[in-house]
Amino acid sequence: MNLSTKITIAIDGFSSCGKSTLAKALAKKLNYIFIDSGAMYRGVSLYCIQNDLVKEGEVNETLLIKQLCGINLTFKNNDNTLKPELFLNGINVEHLIRNIDVASIVSKVASIKEVREKLVLEQQKMGEFGGIIMDGRDIGTVVFPNAELKLFVTADPETRAQRRFLELSETNKSITFEEISYNLEERDRIDSTRKESPLRQANDAILLDNSNLTQEEQLEFTFKLVQEKMRNEVVHE
Ligand code: C5P
Repeated sequence: MNLSTKITIAIDGFSSCGKSTLAKALAKKLNYIFIDSGAMYRGVSLYCIQNDLVKEGEVNETLLIKQLCGINLTFKNNDNTLKPELFLNGINVEHLIRNIDVASIVSKVASIKEVREKLVLEQQKMGEFGGIIMDGRDIGTVVFPNAELKLFVTADPETRAQRRFLELSETNKSITFEEISYNLEERDRIDSTRKESPLRQANDAILLDNSNLTQEEQLEFTFKLVQEKMRNEVVHE
């Protein structure tokens, strides 16, 4: 491996830890592809809402599994913001997937084996040539178990809820801090205890608690790790 070889970077962790923000900034600095895998689970959840597959908070698993092959998820870069946005069956749904109604069912949808199988395959395909930074819950454990660099991000729950509240209340004036805090807690609980690929820190992942770190400090910390990795890969070549 030489210095121009592109590695694979997996960033996992709890909800609203700023994983995507960090992954996006790092991808820009390294000129890597950035994939927010959570957006894909949110895309499938939005499909369920739009196609009447959710009744009183419960997802109709049987119907969803039958319709899975008709769910097409792609990312396209926004020419103005230069950020990747999610398209569901050809329609830009980037804003819709961030809503609380999607957040309130996404962990249930993500616990369905067939959904995970489909999305994991698609994610692995996106990363087959390296040069990718993907964030999610099972990237270092299942999607890219051989990733050269794995991070597990955490922050204290109050800080996370506060960050997400600031973000969501910009577009939804009626949302409350309690609602968001409950949703994060609930998602972390379901994500960590589900049977299929539960959220856990990979044995070889580096822990990053960013409760008291700025975005710049996190980027600097992670960039140093990447440089170290590159140096080691070259030495061990
Ligand atoms: O990252 P984000 O908070 O947008 O993810 C939304 C949800 O998608 C998570 O709470 C989790 O249930 C699911 N998810 C997952 N595996 C991933 C990424 C997200 O199960 N790799």
